Amino acid sequence: MIAVAQEARENAFVIRSLHQFGACVITEEGELFGGCNIENTISGMGVCAERAAIDNAVVHGKYRFRGIAIVDDSEVLVYPCGVCREYLALFSQTNDIDLEVILAKSETKYVVKKISKLLPNMFVSKSETTRNKIKSYKNK
Ligand SMILES: [Zn+2]
Repeated sequence: MIAVAQEARENAFVIRSLHQFGACVITEEGELFGGCNIENTISGMGVCAERAAIDNAVVHGKYRFRGIAIVDDSEVLVYPCGVCREYLALFSQTNDIDLEVILAKSETKYVVKKISKLLPNMFVSKSETTRNKIKSYKNK
């Protein structure tokens, strides 16, 4: 996963922060999908590597994940932003898996966290219809 995230990171489109991120989600079946951050000149319009990786998997009809690896090259560990934590938490509801979030500097230097620890009290829709729709992706 980390190698795929590193490869995706090389394709980051960074015109504002100049900070390249790569990510890779692993599906229940073990398939890997990479993503990178894609920035925009309009603030807030870009997408983070984590969401790009999930979106890449969704484009390929994959909705259930076991975890995600995130890589960058800064000195300190970089955690997913709040939006990405919510995004990961939402997809953790499709299969009721507490996603593993791997924060990596290299294939040997990383830490593993659970999304439930990174986002306690995640948003869960009060709508039964919405919750059932999310669960319907368990069988796709
Ligand atoms: Zn983010």
